[in-house]
Amino acid sequence: MQTLNLPAETAELCRCWQRAGQTIGLVPTMGFLHEGHLSLIRQARARADKVIVSIFVNPTQFGPQEDLDRYPRDLPRDLKLCQDEGADAVFLPTPAAMYEPDFSTWVTEESLTQTLCGASRPGHFRGVTTVVLKLFNLTRCDVAVFGRKDAQQALVISRMVRDLNVPVSLVLAPLIREADGLAMSSRNKFLSADERQEALSLSRGIFAAEQLYQQGERRAAILMRCLSQSLSRTGGRIDYIQVVSQHDLRPLSQINQPALLAAAIFFGQTRLIDNLFLE
Ligand code: AMP
Repeated sequence: MQTLNLPAETAELCRCWQRAGQTIGLVPTMGFLHEGHLSLIRQARARADKVIVSIFVNPTQFGPQEDLDRYPRDLPRDLKLCQDEGADAVFLPTPAAMYEPDFSTWVTEESLTQTLCGASRPGHFRGVTTVVLKLFNLTRCDVAVFGRKDAQQALVISRMVRDLNVPVSLVLAPLIREADGLAMSSRNKFLSADERQEALSLSRGIFAAEQLYQQGERRAAILMRCLSQSLSRTGGRIDYIQVVSQHDLRPLSQINQPALLAAAIFFGQTRLIDNLFLE
């Protein structure tokens, strides 16, 4: 497995693969890898000849008050996990290598980013779409894999790819959970033992809402209440709980089209997201 630090080296390696007729699968991550990330690497492996994983804690998607400096990192472990999954290369740029001091060109999706995490984290998705398009341009990957854990991100990137005619095929992979239900996230590391226990109210609320939906409930307010009731017995602080259309992320009162129940909840200082695709 090759490790690459420079954008130019990465572009060069990918051109080399392409000249040899090999297809490329890209898995963008911020590192501190867990089983959710590894599932994406497996999806890429199954669809492309060569797999490149990027590990980059992208500063432009963090707000000034957010956890950029504290974001968990463990590079030796990440590299071992990538190698064990059969990744062909890992791209590990520095922020300086990705952003020139006078960097001034941004990709902004202007509709889907107005709500949910976009409303709570101004500028977040601009950083995401910009870095993801840079990674697409550097690798010219055939396939890129994103997780449904970050449902809004997946939909925003799909919209960008469609709107800007990016020649990549996207795979949106299922959300992977811990054995007890908690959605896997690098940020789970920040939870104290008590917060980790309380955070189960989020996944349990999602499962309870799923059960109602499977029993035929189509009123968004009932599903949202089900989730908020699960949280009400804990110290979880609701950032948002919403049922929205998968197409345009507008709030729905009746679930009569592919929808998404999405939530962001603070447990202590740690903001966790979880969701349920209602299709
Ligand atoms: P991150 O490193 O958190 O930026 O995530 C990198 C990629 O992994 C994104 O496409 C995420 O949606 C995906 N991902 C993170 N956690 C999970 C999970 N629990 N299940 C599936 N995909 C995930």
